[in-house]
Amino acid sequence: MAIEQDILIAVEPVNTQVVQLANTNPLYLDFSTSVNNIHVNKTKPVWHNYFLCGLKGVQEHFGLNSSTGMNCLLDGTIPPSSGLSSSSALVCCAGLVTLTANGKTLSKVELAEICTKSERYIGTEGGGMDQSISFLAEEGTAKLIEFSPLRATDVRLPSGAAFVIANSCVEMNKAATSHYNIRVMECRLATKLLSKSKGLEWKKMLKLQDVEAKLGVSLKEMLTIVEEVFHPEPYSGEEICTCLGISLEELRTQILSQNTQDGECTSDGVFHFKKLVLCKMSMCL
Ligand code: ADP
Ligand code: MG
Repeated sequence: MAIEQDILIAVEPVNTQVVQLANTNPLYLDFSTSVNNIHVNKTKPVWHNYFLCGLKGVQEHFGLNSSTGMNCLLDGTIPPSSGLSSSSALVCCAGLVTLTANGKTLSKVELAEICTKSERYIGTEGGGMDQSISFLAEEGTAKLIEFSPLRATDVRLPSGAAFVIANSCVEMNKAATSHYNIRVMECRLATKLLSKSKGLEWKKMLKLQDVEAKLGVSLKEMLTIVEEVFHPEPYSGEEICTCLGISLEELRTQILSQNTQDGECTSDGVFHFKKLVLCKMSMCL
């Protein structure tokens, strides 16, 4: 569901091939760079890098070699790092601004897909819910978001239903730590181990849903398979490598994301997936 808090960007296209960013909040410092040499720094998730994600995504989609320069001023009211997806609001707004300044058009669905992909340049392995609802929300209805292909269907809420969105006042900067990505990686590792144990081509499999589809089983049956295949104790990197028949180096470079390659990124150096996968699947039942 859409909420009132938002990110607005005022943009002036300019002939200088430079993108200049300013923010009404003085905590976010000014930034400028050549518009045709965009580099997103994932090791330092400073605010302007989120803007550059959206900009780069649109540039790449259209193969723009000489985009227009822009002077931008951003004003945002979403509490940052609070789980309300201020990062996606910023990426989406930047994508829209770049599109408009370059005189291009796209459908909302296409733009949502581009911004979903391009937010990953910041280093978080996010899904596409946040970017999709940013573009596809409509007044007076909730939306069911589904992927492959992306679609949003109106959902009528029971009359009298109330949703409370509360600020827990706990902040988590998703791109600055591995907490976010580690759960994505644990689901990816679980997918690969399940695939291997069922004789599927595990190297190509990324999502639990892919395993379900390939095996042609129901979600309920998947829960049973997960119960059977995984032991409840956490898995060490070595155990995963033995199961998959790969080296630790291959695990790090070919499966894990950049900020989860170090065994220390998990709180205890091991991967916990049985509970996580069961929880995730039960939520979909
Ligand atoms: P969220 O749950 O809000 O998406 P993230 O940790 O993914 O949290 O992203 C938060 C980051 O987004 C902030 O650290 C900041 O870099 C950027 N951001 C959010 N709101 C603003 C804003 N108004 N102006 C500039 N950058 C912002
Ligand atoms: Mg975010």
